[in-house]
Amino acid sequence: MTTYIQTKCHCGLNSFKVAFKTSELPLSTAACHCNSCRHTTGQMLVIDVPIQGVPLSSTAEGDVAASLEGLTAYKSSKDMTRYFCTKCSAYFFFHNGVHDVWAVFSGVLEKVDEVLSVSHHIWVEDTLDGGIADHYRTVNDVVLPRYAQRATSGTLPLGWKAKEFANAETHPLHCHCKAISLALTRATEIKDPKSEYWLVPGKEGAPMRFMAAHCFCSDCRLSSGSQIQSWVIVPRVNVTDASTSASVDPENAAARPKGLKQYESSPGKRREFCGTCGATVFWWREGVSHLDLSAGLFDQEAGGARAEKWLVWYDRIIHPKDAISPATLAALTEGVKAEKAEEV
Ligand SMILES: [Zn+2]
Ligand SMILES: [Zn+2]
Ligand SMILES: [Zn+2]
Ligand SMILES: [Zn+2]
Repeated sequence: MTTYIQTKCHCGLNSFKVAFKTSELPLSTAACHCNSCRHTTGQMLVIDVPIQGVPLSSTAEGDVAASLEGLTAYKSSKDMTRYFCTKCSAYFFFHNGVHDVWAVFSGVLEKVDEVLSVSHHIWVEDTLDGGIADHYRTVNDVVLPRYAQRATSGTLPLGWKAKEFANAETHPLHCHCKAISLALTRATEIKDPKSEYWLVPGKEGAPMRFMAAHCFCSDCRLSSGSQIQSWVIVPRVNVTDASTSASVDPENAAARPKGLKQYESSPGKRREFCGTCGATVFWWREGVSHLDLSAGLFDQEAGGARAEKWLVWYDRIIHPKDAISPATLAALTEGVKAEKAEEV
């Protein structure tokens, strides 16, 4: 028997039907932390699952191959092509050319826990600090193995770090194709502690850090294809274009990084993504002096994927009521709390 699941993105330009063998559901799958997954999406990890055959038309009767004309293809390696919505940037599919297998991103599925169950982490080694495998520890009381590379490789313990990172003056961020390359600078002053609660003073002379949090809202999910959208709130003046060193101003065409594409997900809420590789870059509102950067863009070489010399991870989940997968929500809720409790 075949189970059909509908998928859609935020803007509605794309919708597909995908097929699974009913007897295999829910499929056990991995959360991937590899550099390609993080930097093509702007997310901290990618959860996807293989489908039967090809993406199908969401409206036609039976199995009719869908047109993919509303998607942008991005070849992240010789054999791997990734597809995202050309209008809102939601990631839908991977195609593995070696095995001719299609996989669907979990954030566009109409239901998740019936379809897949995250059972392990892969490519944790790429993060250099464990990434948010440290925030995603157990599912239904089972501790998820953290594989360094593929699921056949060795594992890395919770709290693992490849090296110690230094406090630097700037921190690089980039999407996979590097059309978007930014540098974050340090904030040095809190003008209004109430409204700038997301600026976290350093202890004992350490630099100020920015607050980062995982958002589970439907708008973030459906415009990214990711169940977990991780944001970092930063003053606009601290975000510079790496090629010009000038501050990014999304309202001024001359000060917008070339290659950014905009999608207005609700009135006044503008999301920006890389038009080439599809990575979510940031969102902003007119006249507001800060913006939210997508945390998966942080260059792991400079400070680990979790970038803890720059970021303080909030110990709660944003918009938990919108979560499409109670299993993912429960895991992250527990994980960020545990991580905070262990912080020194
Ligand atoms: Zn879309
Ligand atoms: Zn990956
Ligand atoms: Zn890009
Ligand atoms: Zn959100």
